[in-house]
Amino acid sequence: MGPAMRLILIGPPGGGKGTQAKLLRKKFNLCHIATGDLLREAVKLDTPAGRLARPLVAQGGLVPDDLVNEMIAERFRRDDRPERFVMDGYPRTLAQVAAFEQVLRQQYLDLTAVLLISVDDEEIVQRLSGRRYCPKCQATYHIRHKPPRIADRCDECGAALVQREDDMEATVRRRLAVYHRNTADLLDHYRRQNLVREVDGSGAIETVFSRIENVL
Ligand SMILES: [Zn+2]
Repeated sequence: MGPAMRLILIGPPGGGKGTQAKLLRKKFNLCHIATGDLLREAVKLDTPAGRLARPLVAQGGLVPDDLVNEMIAERFRRDDRPERFVMDGYPRTLAQVAAFEQVLRQQYLDLTAVLLISVDDEEIVQRLSGRRYCPKCQATYHIRHKPPRIADRCDECGAALVQREDDMEATVRRRLAVYHRNTADLLDHYRRQNLVREVDGSGAIETVFSRIENVL
């Protein structure tokens, strides 16, 4: 089972955070808490927060901060509350940090560490803006790491490949700016508590994971 680890994972979009969270879950037997999954679960279980979120989810709208906080609080009040966990994508803002700290205090749980996966902005831009996908058969490519045999054509079905809006360079840079703005405050806060462990997020998935194990 290993030690009772309670982690918050922070990293840029395209930085491999979700993948590392899954590896941590497996290796240390942690509950992987991602807000998107939690939202779908709350709606499905028809919890009070899930009922409030349902129309927003149906419209594809954003779920406000306090509702996300309430979903997290609900999750930690359940009988099967997680005692060993890795938070993936929460808390994202100082207001969420404050709400989460209250939840943890009520449950007598302490954080073990805040893991920061650092990846150079230019590497993120290269990783994401090189992605292409086939609108017909959903096959995915990367112009550098997994190029199609014929430029801009799907190997499987020959359709013209496209780039997702989210992967366009201008969009990626905008998302990175938002990420840096939000995490600066968060990291200051957790650095004061001496909880931040920074890990170089470049290189292969297994390499990054062993760096994580080394700092824990
Ligand atoms: Zn295709």
